[in-house]
Amino acid sequence: MKAVVTGGAGFIGSHLVEELLLQGAKVHVLDNLVSGQLKNVHPLAVMHIEDIRSQGAKQIIKREKPDVVFHLAAQADVGQSIREPKYDADMNINGTINILEACREASVKKVIFASTSGVYGNLQKDLISEKDLTMPISYYGLSKLTAESYIRLFHQLYGLSYTILRYGNVYGPRQSAKGEGGVIAIFLDRIKKGMPLMIHGDGEQTRDFVYVKDIVRANIAAVEKGDQETIQVSTGKSISINHLVKMLTQIYGSPIETIYTHARTGDIKHSCLDNKKARQLLQWNPQVDIFNGLTETYTFS
Ligand code: NAD
Repeated sequence: MKAVVTGGAGFIGSHLVEELLLQGAKVHVLDNLVSGQLKNVHPLAVMHIEDIRSQGAKQIIKREKPDVVFHLAAQADVGQSIREPKYDADMNINGTINILEACREASVKKVIFASTSGVYGNLQKDLISEKDLTMPISYYGLSKLTAESYIRLFHQLYGLSYTILRYGNVYGPRQSAKGEGGVIAIFLDRIKKGMPLMIHGDGEQTRDFVYVKDIVRANIAAVEKGDQETIQVSTGKSISINHLVKMLTQIYGSPIETIYTHARTGDIKHSCLDNKKARQLLQWNPQVDIFNGLTETYTFS
């Protein structure tokens, strides 16, 4: 298999590149390094420093004619999307359209897209399913939702096959202390520097934290399965920020100072995604529980 991974120098993309190589795939990475780093990219992958909005990126896909494009490159920071909605839309909508046009012209067999639980907004439901209403409360959630619609329309108009994966909050080694779901990376960074943990709001907000290697396995399962489907990739379990701090304290082995501060605009209160569809259609289930995942992240970060 030949694959292109956009965003392959980033946190999730670089883990995906490694696993694809392990499985014998030829891998090309398209990344402009705006948040990714060259050192994250496995030396056996072919690295192209390109912006997903560029003609250069398009030409590479047309020339390489990959079987699959994993489209992960994005502006993935909720706060930045609120501050700079035009920039966010340009990256996440126009960038995606450019990649889709290239895939269509190169007759790529399938596009696998990294979407987010952020498309639902503040739904006030204990467990969200793919059929639930999408009501983003950040421009990031909106730009990802719009990109999803373009992907579906490219299939409808041109037969370009796809799977859209909506991830929960992903964590693991190599995650930068910035960006969506970065709370674990931020906390680990501050613990290592001996700094207090800043908790926005009362700390009772919950997230569905899913380990990066589980996300990678879902992406790879989607190569053969889940065509034309939108599928949540999650643990289906809610973990509050306060509970997270308790587990980190246990792993660290001594008390950690916490400071409670104001809640942030665009932040979602509770987010937990049902993973029934992923289990059924991708024959996937999360294998790394939060405590083990945190321990591994603490050890390798
Ligand atoms: P990341 O910032 O580490 O990776 C994104 C990569 O895309 C970076 O290497 C960056 O340099 C690259 N990139 C950004 N804009 C680009 C552009 N215009 N052209 C080329 N490359 C560009 O973030 P991540 O956490 O690894 O996220 C990967 C994907 O997963 C994103 O699409 C994100 O929206 C999605 N996602 C992440 C999470 C999470 O919790 N981390 C949750 C849901 C969805």
